[in-house]
Amino acid sequence: MNIRFYNTLTNQVTPFEPLNSGLVKMYSCGPTVYDFAHIGNFRSFLFADLLRRFLEASGFEVWHVMNITDVGHMTDDAAADGVGEDKMQAAARRLKHDKKAGKVEDEAVTNPDDPYEVAEYFTRAFLDDGRKLGLKVASEFPQRVPKATDYIADIQQMISTLIERGHAYVGGDGAVYYSVESFSQYGQLSGNPLEALQVGAGGRIDISNQSFKRHPADFMLWKPDPTHIMRWDSPWGAGYPGWHIECSTMSMRALETDVLDIHTGGEDLIFPHHECEIAQSCGATGNDLFSRFWMHARFLLVEGEKMSKRKGNFFTVRDVLSGKATGSPVHPAVLRMELIKSHYRSQSNFTTKGLIESAGTVRRLTELGQRLRDASGGVPEEIDQTEHPVVRAFLHALANDLNVSEAMAVVHAWVASPGSDAAESYGVLLALDQVLGVWELASNDNRSEDTESDTVASLCALIDVARSARNYAAADGHRQQLIQLGYEVRTSSNGTSVKKKLT
Ligand code: AMP
Ligand code: ZN
Repeated sequence: MNIRFYNTLTNQVTPFEPLNSGLVKMYSCGPTVYDFAHIGNFRSFLFADLLRRFLEASGFEVWHVMNITDVGHMTDDAAADGVGEDKMQAAARRLKHDKKAGKVEDEAVTNPDDPYEVAEYFTRAFLDDGRKLGLKVASEFPQRVPKATDYIADIQQMISTLIERGHAYVGGDGAVYYSVESFSQYGQLSGNPLEALQVGAGGRIDISNQSFKRHPADFMLWKPDPTHIMRWDSPWGAGYPGWHIECSTMSMRALETDVLDIHTGGEDLIFPHHECEIAQSCGATGNDLFSRFWMHARFLLVEGEKMSKRKGNFFTVRDVLSGKATGSPVHPAVLRMELIKSHYRSQSNFTTKGLIESAGTVRRLTELGQRLRDASGGVPEEIDQTEHPVVRAFLHALANDLNVSEAMAVVHAWVASPGSDAAESYGVLLALDQVLGVWELASNDNRSEDTESDTVASLCALIDVARSARNYAAADGHRQQLIQLGYEVRTSSNGTSVKKKLT
């Protein structure tokens, strides 16, 4: 199959082949664990997941690493400088305040003064949300989900190498800075060559720290700070690393390579974060390439507007699943579908209408899955991905820079007329779902301890999916089936659960 992806580095769609035949090494910038991840974050994470699953379905082994940023991401990191306050430090303060005001659940952080506890709490929340939404890498913690605080020694080693090679220096304030002038390719990813980077208001470079640096665009690698709540000894004084150096170090270490095949993130990370990653990694290795493909997801809007805390249209995954966001609980499979269904390079728009449509898609797929599983006795036929016309057409669409709309058109057409051989069709459904991950979420719904069998579990999921689609008649139909099987059915914002009736 001729796989082609858009590469931010070249601004072109070009054929993709991994460096080592058969094995793709990809890195995705993960969450900064200072709060619950919102659905915009998950649009970027699930885009990476779709990419990974597509590559796997196409026959590649994929090492997918997604990091946890638990130190060093500053509140003002929109500039290349790393000024402001560490987001973890700010989160600890906020949590302490909220806890005093009784706004934090009891089981949440017990000691908000401890940033490690804050980080661990939000890391667990991210992994939990990730597993709920079928983000495969979330089930590969900790091997494929490294935390920056576990890599401090490696980060320091990389900083030393950059100093030795003349790419970094200790500035007038004692902090270690990367010298952007030492790397002639700086600006190649973002199209922000040094001369275009303006200092101060309206420019992309923050004015603070200027007197300590050789060039205004130089960025921080290590910040000595004896008062920072997370700090480590170093040759440059006790302090903490910059956010950019963390990803350079973790990606190369965890993927065991100097050159990645694919690096992903949201569009806001192109500059400065990814530009700086390239400068650091190439500076340390001497290579002129760090990642062969750079792929960026465009931002998610909410009802046509940019998500913002100020406007109150800023939804966490939890807000959406519980119904707090839209007034009605949403099954995780439905949110997954909603976040993956539009092309990663188009600005997608989260709307209630879109969510209801996604719920309809998931409902049709899940009902079909249940019917095919029952009719085939749960034994699918082995499908040759490259030979079967439906699966081939589906993968072929995705091979074209993840054209998910075209791939979904193949799915919709097939769901409308899936063929008469139940075992074959069940095999097709499982093959498609290897990438979509929707039936997987709806059929392995283990939220209720009382559910006994696959059928009961998927009927519960079907109720939740139908309710997400506001299709109460369908939900009631599934409910009646459960009642006939002898169950008491209870539906709440946590989903549907059942209890066997005592007769
Ligand atoms: P953060 O936790 O802020 O480090 O962000 C984690 C990931 O979410 C990064 O890849 C961001 O680019 C991405 N991201 C943040 N906001 C959005 C959004 N509204 N839509 C899509 N991706 C986003
Ligand atoms: Zn990163």
